[in-house]
Amino acid sequence: MSSGQSSPDLRENFNPCIKVFLLKILAVFVLFCLPACAVNPVTGKTELMFVSEAEEIEMGRQAAPSLNWSYGGEFHDPELKAYLEGIVKKLWENSERPYLPLKFSVQNTSVPNAFALPGYVAITRGLLAELQNEAQFVAVMGHEVGHVMARHSAKRMTQLQLQQLGLIIGGVVLSESKQRDLILGIGAVSSSLLLLKYSREQELQSDRLGVRYMAALGYDPYEAMNAHEQLQVAVDNYLQRQGVKSQKGSLLEAILSTHPRHEIRLEEIRQMIKELPPYKITGDGKGRERFLRKTRRLREVNKAYFVYDKAVRLYEENRLDEAEKTLKKAISMNASQSPFYNLYGMIKLKLSRYDEAEGYFKKALNIDSRYQPAIYGQGLVFLNRKQYRQAIDEFKKSLKLYPSHPGSVFGTGKSYFKLKMHSKAIPYLRQFAFQSPRHPEVHGMLGISYEAVGNIRSAIREYELQVKVAPNTELGRYSKKRLEVLRRIQGQFYRSFRF
Ligand SMILES: [Zn+2]
Repeated sequence: MSSGQSSPDLRENFNPCIKVFLLKILAVFVLFCLPACAVNPVTGKTELMFVSEAEEIEMGRQAAPSLNWSYGGEFHDPELKAYLEGIVKKLWENSERPYLPLKFSVQNTSVPNAFALPGYVAITRGLLAELQNEAQFVAVMGHEVGHVMARHSAKRMTQLQLQQLGLIIGGVVLSESKQRDLILGIGAVSSSLLLLKYSREQELQSDRLGVRYMAALGYDPYEAMNAHEQLQVAVDNYLQRQGVKSQKGSLLEAILSTHPRHEIRLEEIRQMIKELPPYKITGDGKGRERFLRKTRRLREVNKAYFVYDKAVRLYEENRLDEAEKTLKKAISMNASQSPFYNLYGMIKLKLSRYDEAEGYFKKALNIDSRYQPAIYGQGLVFLNRKQYRQAIDEFKKSLKLYPSHPGSVFGTGKSYFKLKMHSKAIPYLRQFAFQSPRHPEVHGMLGISYEAVGNIRSAIREYELQVKVAPNTELGRYSKKRLEVLRRIQGQFYRSFRF
């Protein structure tokens, strides 16, 4: 009766009422489209929508911290931020849903990109450094704001919900709370929001909204075309610096592929501008001087980050001596960037020089006490020194800032595991196993933990996974041994019930 494939956790949470309830929803949706239809604030058309505005805002709020840290955290330059935020606020106030909450930030990464969720609009340092004037900045932000106002991210969530319904009808039943987590985009789904692709129609609609916002605010909408050129330049430059010609399947490829072919797109934007209602341009409609003045420091700092990016690559290739030398150069160009000291700490950590590593993480935190990667780094220092309780404190601090950070989730689980506090270890290890199912240690650790708390069925499942994922490690061999023992015990148990 116990097949290894079907998940016992799901079955334990089976609730026939939910199944009936969801079937009813589906019936209502198919027949009447009553609760699920909403009027799109941009087009005024009625469309299928399961996500209410309140849920949309909640989804944005939940996803924001993880998005922030997966895009390098915030770039600190209060004067620049105040200037750009003022512009984005104007855009927001002139949009279809000005009452939505808004937080703007410059993300500290060289990857050229911009994104927006309900309540959260951002552009990266890498893209900002390549833009030539204020109008281009407005074009990029206007396009992103357009995605939010036209409820594109909410529509994506609706699709996810329909997929969920599909799963339920197909017989896989999730508990209500799990269902809700998935729908609201908590945890793993919130990070997949990051990579969601908008359809070509959605991209065109956002372009159209973008040029409309620009013209309404007195900017020259033709700068939207130059903004697209600059985005292309930024991506090319970035790839060249990374020493990559074309990266199939990479994040950048993903970003680019959502955007229609360059020339076609430019032509389409030109057409959209021609179709705009009459508009009045303020001044030259570009705002070049002001923009270049306000972004001067960012462009200066950005050059030090070119060197830092190179050091990161060397670190990842385990060329630690070269990485250290390169990093020293970056620090000599700019001595006030937390990420630089943090990378120093990570290099020292790889060399097992824990005291030195700790010193560098502290330096990073002296500059920015909320720099999550350095808090995580401190956790790793404690973990390596076998000071598990201190490690847990640091990892939990890190998780407060970046709730789904896989490293900190695993670090917490592993520390509890090492302390033999198995019931505390399990939820963290489970969350990490969900995020990273092919990790070579996590299933074995889960198996041992489940066995310790007497949940033999789950222990067997996890040992089986460990043997599948990494059979030739110490944990893999241990799991195999335990499996033989536990299966024998289980067999005896069932046989004892035979008549
Ligand atoms: Zn877009």
